[in-house]
Amino acid sequence: MSNKDNLVIIGAGLAGPLMATYLSNLGYNVDIYERRPDMRYIDQSAGKSINLALSKRGIRALRDIGLYEKIKSKLIPMKGRMIHNIDGSTQLQKYGQKTNEVIYSISRAFLNISLMEYCENNGNVRIHCEHELEYIDMNEQKLIFTNHKSVKFNRVLGSDGSSSIIRQTIDKLCSINFQKKPLLHGYKELSIPSTNNGDFKLDPNALHIWPRGKFMLIALPNMDGSFTSTLFLPMDGKISFSSIKTKKQILDFFQENFPDALDLFTDIIETYQNNPIGTLSTVYCDKWHYKDKLLIFGDAAHAIVPFFGQGMNASFQDCTVINSLINKFNGDWDKIFPEFSTIHIANGHAIANMALENYIEMRDLVNNPDYKTKRNLELQLENKFRNRFIPRYSMVSFHTIPYAEAYERGLIQNTLMNNYISGTITKDMLHEKILDQLDPIS
Ligand code: FAD
Repeated sequence: MSNKDNLVIIGAGLAGPLMATYLSNLGYNVDIYERRPDMRYIDQSAGKSINLALSKRGIRALRDIGLYEKIKSKLIPMKGRMIHNIDGSTQLQKYGQKTNEVIYSISRAFLNISLMEYCENNGNVRIHCEHELEYIDMNEQKLIFTNHKSVKFNRVLGSDGSSSIIRQTIDKLCSINFQKKPLLHGYKELSIPSTNNGDFKLDPNALHIWPRGKFMLIALPNMDGSFTSTLFLPMDGKISFSSIKTKKQILDFFQENFPDALDLFTDIIETYQNNPIGTLSTVYCDKWHYKDKLLIFGDAAHAIVPFFGQGMNASFQDCTVINSLINKFNGDWDKIFPEFSTIHIANGHAIANMALENYIEMRDLVNNPDYKTKRNLELQLENKFRNRFIPRYSMVSFHTIPYAEAYERGLIQNTLMNNYISGTITKDMLHEKILDQLDPIS
């Protein structure tokens, strides 16, 4: 392996510094260029409560680089979805049957800063903030930044997010069938403060959901006793961000749809009116590299909607996969880059599709009696056929089997359960078909 390679990463968001640490541990020198000012020296109090759900795939990568043990005290376990019905009643739907089958709420800013500090303290990594990549001169092998600086490169790994310049460059050099599909729903972040005593106003060990069919409100706990709440709503239409704007409209909307949540917020009108509307989209492309020169990973390669809580986890998993390919091909980039595209793109597409499907599950199906019947059945089948029949949510969140395989197995399981519930097949036939169609997961 050539340990003399100097590598460039664009983007010091969540995935860039993690990849840099893997590379540094393999002996590479890494320079990361990031367009934002250095978040380590900026007051994070405004955005400190924005949080993310971390699960198995992300934890595995953090463990690999040695950071997990250092940050785990800042994780809040969430054991299931707490469903808030319109009449104010609640019901916990557990994510898994084992006690360790939980997902964790973590502050985005804390995790990003920890990753940046860790990668730089680790040796061979330098982060250059306020360097926004403008374009790449492939003939000269130069990166040109908007601050008029330029640097030569051998190869570049792009974790520059969903509007990636590296992806645009690859697309110009070789067609990658790039598509960015906007979701017609947007989101607004709101905040549920702690009580005057600093206590949580809701159960901190759950992800709270107010499912209302075409839209929903969710809330994840923060270490300081507050919750970050997110309202997902269509951009246009009768009940939408474009129709709910005035003080009266906002109040009427919350009173009608989230009466119990209304008591939890303070200044809901001001927060709603002041906070921006975030847009969401899914990025698909058929190639994630150009020769042995450019590679994209993380949201740059596969931005997905946030409803499976997997965007960051998938991005961290990319780093684990790239790390294993570097070891497999002994640092031969000519093999590593194409292989990453070949083996992993199907997984990107699979999690993108599952995330879209999960929006409908979260905002609508969780309260549907058929969904509950099926959920009970899949838990029974998981108990009977351990390692063979695993609910799709668990395959994605508590296992590391490739997303594409989880997707395929999920389709088979769903068809079998539908056939049984509709009476097309008997219980014995269902069991036989599971043994026949689903191999054990190692
Ligand atoms: P980013 O974190 O977006 O980082 C990209 C970096 O590149 C940024 O720092 C940016 O400034 C920099 N950059 C961009 N362009 C340039 C340029 N031209 N030059 C230099 N630098 C540049 N995922 C989960 O796993 N769990 C969750 O619960 C979850 N919740 C989410 C909720 C919401 C509302 C959203 C929107 C996303 C959520 N995600 C979640 C997804 C997660 O945020 C992303 O998948 C993750 O941030 C991807 O990491 P990344 O490093 O690829 O991209």
